[in-house]
Amino acid sequence: MFVIQDIAPHRYDRTYSLTPAGPSDYALCCRDGSVLLRRQGDAYTLPRFAELGLSTEGTRHLFAMDEVGCYLTSAPEEAPEDFEYMSTQGLRQVRPMYVAFAAITALQLERWYRDRTYCGHCGTPMEPSTVERAMVCPRCGLTEYPKICPAVIVAVTDGDRLVLTRYAGRPYRGDALIAGFMEIGETPEDTVRREVMEEVGLRVKNIRYYKSQPWSFTDTMLIGFYCELDGDDVIHVDRSELKEGFWQSREEIKPRDGDISLTSEMIERFRLGEKP
Ligand SMILES: [Zn+2]
Repeated sequence: MFVIQDIAPHRYDRTYSLTPAGPSDYALCCRDGSVLLRRQGDAYTLPRFAELGLSTEGTRHLFAMDEVGCYLTSAPEEAPEDFEYMSTQGLRQVRPMYVAFAAITALQLERWYRDRTYCGHCGTPMEPSTVERAMVCPRCGLTEYPKICPAVIVAVTDGDRLVLTRYAGRPYRGDALIAGFMEIGETPEDTVRREVMEEVGLRVKNIRYYKSQPWSFTDTMLIGFYCELDGDDVIHVDRSELKEGFWQSREEIKPRDGDISLTSEMIERFRLGEKP
């Protein structure tokens, strides 16, 4: 099992840089929530400026992958032959993983830059900071950092049973865990207790941190927890958020391979008896 940020031996370096791009750097062309990749059989590669014949003028450094600069640049309308625009959903299946990770991270940064064109306080066009990853308003000084929204993923267990959910109104249709965004003033553990109560009406105890996952698909930082049922096991589903919420035993849980989410890893580790 591995999740999208597990890209070793490849190295992601987020160091902020204003160095201009060169022809052998990677060109990350983002268009309507998709990113341009080169297809080679079943695998994908990150395209270089020289391969695409793109100018390196006016590009923006995002990060480095294996010491090669990754730059945001204007996107050709049509994908050239052997290249393909991959949507965020499509990127879940893209391998190798470091290519998917670079693409989805670029899309998150592209979205953030686009949404920070103007100052949210005074409406002046924002400018990139000269020292760090931030957009700064030259008029009022407002500084905006990349948008990262913390959220919890919660596996509620009771012996050999686990609470699974199905969300209403989301593209993902499979079984999930309880999940929700943190509110201002909450600790992650507070969010765990609140979300479990709101979504399935259960009390929990023995809340243990498992692992986190940057989930660039939705600007989210997912923080995974296992916890145990405390008291009454009757589930009351909040129908505005969930379609279903139910207990499932280890034997009933279907194996999940090939998925890159922390949710899948947490369900799978419980199914195999490795957690909690
Ligand atoms: Zn301003």
